[in-house]
Amino acid sequence: MASWKDNVRAVEPYTPGEQPQVKDIIKLNTNENPYPPARGVAEALAAFDAGRLRKYPTPDARELVEALSKAYGLPKEDIFVGVGSDDVLAMSFLTFFNSEKPILFPDVTYSFYDVWADLFKIPYKRVPLQDDWSVDTDAFCRENGGVVIPNPNAPTGLLLPLSEIEKILAANPASVVIIDEAYIDFGGESALPLLSKYENLLVVRTMSKSRSLAGSRIGFAFGNPELIRYLWDVRNSFNSYTMDSVTQAVGAAALADSAYFNDTCAKIIKTRTRFASEMKELGFTFPESSANFIFASHPDVDAAQLFADLKAAGIFVRYFPKGRTRDSLRITIGTDEEMDRLLAFLKDYLKK
Ligand code: PMP
Repeated sequence: MASWKDNVRAVEPYTPGEQPQVKDIIKLNTNENPYPPARGVAEALAAFDAGRLRKYPTPDARELVEALSKAYGLPKEDIFVGVGSDDVLAMSFLTFFNSEKPILFPDVTYSFYDVWADLFKIPYKRVPLQDDWSVDTDAFCRENGGVVIPNPNAPTGLLLPLSEIEKILAANPASVVIIDEAYIDFGGESALPLLSKYENLLVVRTMSKSRSLAGSRIGFAFGNPELIRYLWDVRNSFNSYTMDSVTQAVGAAALADSAYFNDTCAKIIKTRTRFASEMKELGFTFPESSANFIFASHPDVDAAQLFADLKAAGIFVRYFPKGRTRDSLRITIGTDEEMDRLLAFLKDYLKK
């Protein structure tokens, strides 16, 4: 007999990292920033007039877009914003990936891409990374319905040189190429300078990592005005007023303090360098990271077991048990003290 269930859009959802609500843990599982947001953020929250909440926010998220325009030196018409870069990416998939041809993304990458493709019924092909975890750029230069690549990639942390990104853009004038720069502020070279040259480029960013605002859910994207206009049209056919007034004020305040931003990113890079060299000494191997995490494995250690043992000790990291990622753990770079506690645990662990 027919059932209403026959018509359900059933999907296998993305599994976000755990957000344990207990104190005294070391949380290195979702690439959050260990440092607080810029001081201006708390000031903006304290100064926010609750009376403003009576009204809808501006549908074009004017306050936030203006602040982004000023901070990045790009016209407002080049900017789109969303509720985290997840929202920006979802809207971009819906807007730009509307072909019978498969979209392409790496086989080891952000595990939300195939979820959106399934949800929106977009055909897709996973392009295998090479043995050293690097992106096989030639494989992105064949016919497709669109391209999405994180740079640096997640969970590997590996950066693709800008020249390789440009090769992909030049080979794909008939597709939109999305470069997901969620982690670019931790030492990578952004594709933003290519915007003036390639009208098929969309660069997606987030304030969740480098600006310590995962809790505020602010994502944004840069592209040529026509591309951006299409995004707003889809956004406004789905849900307008998505960026609430408080969040816009928070985002603008974070953008205003570039000194703090630069400082925080530099601190994380410094900790990453030190942590990476100590991990190497312990026998861990990993691709060179340009992100705020490293993706480490050890020849004598079962990753699933280490993941469970770390968790039992109150240290949360991320484990992707399927396929090629099953031997590695993705470890977010926290404070120096947090990384020292993790290193102490690992030294002890490897002795047993
Ligand atoms: N892209 C990549 C590659 C990510 O790792 C993440 C974090 N989960 C996101 C996008 C989404 O981040 P957010 O929605 O917090 O901006």
